[in-house]
Amino acid sequence: MRFSDGRLTPIWDKVRAGARLTAAEGLILLETEDLLGVGRMADHAKRRREADRVYFVINRHVTPTNLCVLSCTFCGFARKKGEAGAYEHSIEDMVAMVKDGVREVHIVGGHHPEWPFEYYERMIEAIHHAHPEVQIKAFTAAEIDYFWRRWKIEPKEALARLKAVGLRSMPGGGAEIFSSRLARLLKYTGKADPERWCEIHGIAHALGIPTNATMLYGHVETLAERVDHLVRLREQQDASGGFLTFVPLAYQVATTKLVPRQTPPADSLKTIATSRLMLDNFPHVEAYWVTLGEETASIALNFGADDVNGTLEDERIQHLSGAETPAGVAREQLLRMIHDAGKIAVERDALYNVVQVWN
Ligand code: SF4
Repeated sequence: MRFSDGRLTPIWDKVRAGARLTAAEGLILLETEDLLGVGRMADHAKRRREADRVYFVINRHVTPTNLCVLSCTFCGFARKKGEAGAYEHSIEDMVAMVKDGVREVHIVGGHHPEWPFEYYERMIEAIHHAHPEVQIKAFTAAEIDYFWRRWKIEPKEALARLKAVGLRSMPGGGAEIFSSRLARLLKYTGKADPERWCEIHGIAHALGIPTNATMLYGHVETLAERVDHLVRLREQQDASGGFLTFVPLAYQVATTKLVPRQTPPADSLKTIATSRLMLDNFPHVEAYWVTLGEETASIALNFGADDVNGTLEDERIQHLSGAETPAGVAREQLLRMIHDAGKIAVERDALYNVVQVWN
């Protein structure tokens, strides 16, 4: 392989040999102008794991409330009580949202000022009871940490109780960017810091609850902060081993306007490719079509991503933050995204069991 940036040649030698990349090499991958060079290396790493397979799931997002005690600067989703657009769903409403054919329900919401932990427990129990065949992926590490801050329920107890009533896996949100500088600047010091976020994922893994991980990029973070985030995730995966998927989330500018415009597709592609190359111990890297747009997500399937998430039906967090993609898509649209990239579409469940291969 020839590169326009000579710094990529020794990195390619390591990628081919399956050797671990350093933080300094990760920074080169994000800095270089040779987007196609980075993409081809990531595609090689992806193919070695999954050949031409790309996964998707028929899923449903349930967002119990947008009331939140915090006010993170990048968030266009949260509301205070009485504010226009604030909402709270009843458990009955949430049970009714899950329709036949859904394999995974994804539950994430604001840090509600009053709902007791038992409300969340009843929520999972009711959904599981009504839809025992649906796998429930619920509550970020930030929410689990909030149960401790608000109700003094230790994460180990919270997760064990939630697992007992039907929780199967955890989403990867709340990580934002692992940087104390950004936590202060963007006012998310009130939520789980990197050590706590990783600790809670480690606890989940020890309890047999697989989880995902995210990174919010494309705002005021530095490239070095992105690399540091990836290295910390890789270390946590070495320690506890239960991460399934890494999901890079492109910041949506809309109302919060930390930067004048959304990060360009080339930056997203390079970030996805770098993630695939740095996270050598993560089974999957996702091209989340909601924040990327369907076209960029499709292209990302040749830049190291092997998953496009799912149908979602009613995505709210990114859309209240300004995402212009639809709030959900049909299976046919996901198949088109994957087939347009020249890949084999594999329908999965929340735990990556294969449901059907769509050639
Ligand atoms: S990002 Fe999460 S914790 Fe922060 S304000 Fe929004 S909903 Fe609340």
